[in-house]
Amino acid sequence: MVSRVIPVDEFDLVIFGGTGDLARRKILPGLFRRYCAGQMPPNARIIGAARSDYDDAGYRDLIRLAVAEFDADSAKDTAKLDGFLAQLSYVTVDARGTQGWDTLATLVRPDVVKAFYFSVGPGLFGDLAERLHLHEIADSASRIVVEKPFGRDLDSAKALNADLAAHFDETQIYRIDHYLGKETVQNLMAVRFGNVLFEPLWNSQYIDHIQITVAETVGVGGRGGYYDKSGAMRDMVQNHLMQLLCLIAMEPPNKFGPDAVRDEKLKVIRALEAVQAHHIVRGQYGPLADEQGYREDVENARSFTESFIAMKLHIANWRWAGTPFYLRTGKRLKAQSSEIAVVFKPAPHSIFDDETDTENNPKRNVLIIKLQPNEGMTLDVTIKEPGQGGMRLINVPLDMTFAEALGEGAQAPDAYERLIMDVIRGNQTLFMRGDEVEAAWGWTDPIIEGWQARSDVPKTYDSGSAGPEDALMLMHRDNRRWMEIKP
Ligand code: NAD
Repeated sequence: MVSRVIPVDEFDLVIFGGTGDLARRKILPGLFRRYCAGQMPPNARIIGAARSDYDDAGYRDLIRLAVAEFDADSAKDTAKLDGFLAQLSYVTVDARGTQGWDTLATLVRPDVVKAFYFSVGPGLFGDLAERLHLHEIADSASRIVVEKPFGRDLDSAKALNADLAAHFDETQIYRIDHYLGKETVQNLMAVRFGNVLFEPLWNSQYIDHIQITVAETVGVGGRGGYYDKSGAMRDMVQNHLMQLLCLIAMEPPNKFGPDAVRDEKLKVIRALEAVQAHHIVRGQYGPLADEQGYREDVENARSFTESFIAMKLHIANWRWAGTPFYLRTGKRLKAQSSEIAVVFKPAPHSIFDDETDTENNPKRNVLIIKLQPNEGMTLDVTIKEPGQGGMRLINVPLDMTFAEALGEGAQAPDAYERLIMDVIRGNQTLFMRGDEVEAAWGWTDPIIEGWQARSDVPKTYDSGSAGPEDALMLMHRDNRRWMEIKP
């Protein structure tokens, strides 16, 4: 089965921060793949806009190198790459000054879809929004795309929302959380709401608990300065894990449309119970062999910032009363793996005298939604062990890995590609609304304030492990266990 490419309208996409890491690593290689897939209209234009001095030719050279570095396979098709680069141009722009704005105004066409990607620090969002209006470059049909972090607490998120709202309507603002652009995350909704099989069981009567894990093997890398002021709660939980939680826990929206979906997600955040302090474990990675630990990485010997967090949450509504959600994310863990595990309750009565059904090997259905590294879904079902005498049961996974389902060579668009095309189409369903972001910060803030008030010290964990011992205990106390962190 070959995936269908739905054409988009002609567009001008201005990428502020077009020379930066995100633009070179993700946005432009992603757009090139859309070009290769035949989705970019021949007259679409991409305009890089940043502080550095480049002319068009110099910018195209920069992006040629970026595509070669971050998507070497696609870059091999030099004819296609030349064609793509011909649609690129560049303007030197100062977000806080006057330089470049008049030129940009002459470049952006009035009669096509206009999108402005703010791939710059949030400190510049307000300046960009203001100047786009001042110079009459954006109009009421234009779209702006903003990157995380969207604030660092409720007050700063409100201030950012107000800065954007001064010049753009909410229907024009696309707040990116690239987790929502993942094919599997959308497939989670397709599986839940497109089949009769799951939704009747999707509640506390049949689901024992749900685990959401986002594990990385990397440390803070070159982002130490930023990360140490942020930590796993702000960097991962408030946005990515919260978004996954919302999609898994929300009520069925009446249709797959932006406000219908986002209304339901918002209700989940509002229904979250306050988390008890002993239901949260914070960790910080220690040194391993010749790799330094967190504190050396961020050059702060007295840092109490968490690089790991595990927590148990409850959603106070009819559907989820009694079903806990366990969230965990961290750096320098044993494998890179992001997944959601929906662990169903065992059958109410076993008719089989099965001695293999033990605590270590329970026979129950588990739906695993894997986001990274290989997107796909598996559903563990219990069957009879073939060929064995008597009635011995085993769990086998029904595998819905997409690469296999789609066939050899088929490649689903990555999250950024998909989301940028949604911006051009004007579809906000997979983007966060302002009130959602504020609600998530409203839930996060008291937890962080609690740590600060108590001078909470994170537990040290070994690099390459599954996190601090206390995180395992969080589950053990409930007679449950985490899924193994494996790729
Ligand atoms: P970067 O520092 O590599 O690039 C910043 C870009 O902004 C450069 O192109 C620079 O020229 C431009 N810029 C800075 N000041 C400017 C000004 N006054 N006027 C015009 N242009 C100016 O940053 P990045 O890593 O590309 O990140 C961009 C944004 O995306 C940040 O908000 C970051 O938090 C977010 N983000 C980045 C990543 C990533 O993987 N790099 C991932 C998620 C979110």
